[in-house]
Amino acid sequence: SKLLQVDNVEKVYDSEGLPTQALAGISFDVLEGEFLGIMGPSGSGKTTLLNCIATIIKPTSGQILLEGESISAFNSKNLAAYRGNRIGYLFQDFELLDNLTGRENIMLPLSIHGESVATAEKKITEIANYLNITDVLDKFPAQMSGGQKQRVAAARSLVPEPAIILADEPTGALDTRSARTLMEKLKGINEEKGRNILMVTHDANAASFCSRILFIQDGVIFHELRYQENESRE
Ligand code: ADP
Ligand code: ADP
Repeated sequence: SKLLQVDNVEKVYDSEGLPTQALAGISFDVLEGEFLGIMGPSGSGKTTLLNCIATIIKPTSGQILLEGESISAFNSKNLAAYRGNRIGYLFQDFELLDNLTGRENIMLPLSIHGESVATAEKKITEIANYLNITDVLDKFPAQMSGGQKQRVAAARSLVPEPAIILADEPTGALDTRSARTLMEKLKGINEEKGRNILMVTHDANAASFCSRILFIQDGVIFHELRYQENESRE
């Protein structure tokens, strides 16, 4: 069934009177359980698309629906719930707070939701085990490798258990080995925990973990690729 529908979404930025059409009426569905990839050249509208879905920016026209309901029609309570625990955003440049430890960074979204300390500790222990970051929980970001920082950032996005993970170039700053480790973990979260992932990437190796890939150019989809079940990667 359709979890998320992007329906004829258009986004025109107006910077100092110069309009830029970043999305030109893009439409697609994200089906329950999918690991969907979005590939396209720089400037094709990928980040704009994720930001519209994350409600960081508003489409100029068109709409985005969650389980058939337009998110633009959500009341403030539903919008807060959508932002807080239906979607999780994972950025390329980590966006970790440098003056907080790994544990404190991961704790942030849980504190915002008013989770009890005991429950938060339990969730952090579990996700840290899964992502192999237990030994860096008490380190600061400057003391971690790139791969470790990205996995701490992934833990922070995943710990509120969002239904949909929006990932913007999650392997963009990683070496090949760290990128592969992260992708295997994301794939595991998709398959074992049934989380949807919508990932924007330039990285063909990362994209090979997706079940379906949409190629976008100039703000529209021009090609779609579906991976067969059990198709070998490499
Ligand atoms: P991608 O993520 O595929 O690189 P973006 O969504 O970042 O693409 O950008 C799509 C287009 O919109 C580009 O032409 C970009 O320059 C333009 N753009 C993105 N953000 C803004 C903004 N805040 N103001 C004006 N133009 C923007
Ligand atoms: P991984 O792929 O496990 O994320 P890397 O291959 O990037 O890690 O690094 C391997 C090890 O080297 C890490 O476990 C880490 O302890 C150390 N390391 C690498 N880069 C850094 C860094 N910038 N600061 C501190 N330690 C680092």
